Amino acid sequence: MTECLELYKGKSKTIYDIGEPNELLVQFRNDATGGNGAKHAILEDKGRVNCAFDAFIMAVLAENGIKTHWLKSVSDTEIRVRRLNMLPIECVLRNRAAGGICKRLGIERGRIFSPPVFEFFLKNDALGDPIITEDHIFMLKLASKEDLAAMRALTYRVNDILQPVFAKAGFDLVDFKLEFGYYQGQLLLGDEFTLDGCRLWDKQSGEIYDKDRFRQDLGDVIHFYKEAAKRLGI
Ligand code: UDP
Repeated sequence: MTECLELYKGKSKTIYDIGEPNELLVQFRNDATGGNGAKHAILEDKGRVNCAFDAFIMAVLAENGIKTHWLKSVSDTEIRVRRLNMLPIECVLRNRAAGGICKRLGIERGRIFSPPVFEFFLKNDALGDPIITEDHIFMLKLASKEDLAAMRALTYRVNDILQPVFAKAGFDLVDFKLEFGYYQGQLLLGDEFTLDGCRLWDKQSGEIYDKDRFRQDLGDVIHFYKEAAKRLGI
């Protein structure tokens, strides 16, 4: 890490320039945040469990033909990734109702969506990451029609790949968020797939195994993250 230049410090990851034009180093930290940064804590082992969880999911996706930024593991909290030109858009897919959509549309928590519900959000902390329409994205010149179609299709494909993986471990994949970016003209999956960016409920008990444990002060956050990882064979 001596030659590394810190490029960007996010809420739970730090991105370093390692002097390679096409690659970056991502470090998963122990920070947990909620309420758009209003709530913060350091949770021991969070970086480690998130790094391992992300590596597992990115490998499953790659095996199933999804192109991602993930290149290799560097340490138990660090990975090398392709340097993407990220689109400032979050793609959320919901198999069941939870979180924002319940408040926004007055829907009861847990309702099953068939087909799943897809949403775009603008990545902008100052604005609190608002939900946006395709027209908003075109007006803001953030992405093309083709980009949006590709992100949407990839997000549904990721759902089709991951739902059975989680189901086999006894979990319901309630919802998740993906971010994409360009690498040498190709749209790839970037950012991360961890329990910070998805909702995972025990199929039988409905117990929460994701970041809602932190958001809602349910306690034992990392214990549940580790349990989820163990059940997935990570
Ligand atoms: N999500 C995320 N980052 C965000 C907003 C949402 O990773 O900035 C994830 C969140 O963990 C959940 C899904 O996207 O799995 C849908 O989140 P929602 O829109 O319900 O927002 P929230 O209730 O988390 O504010």
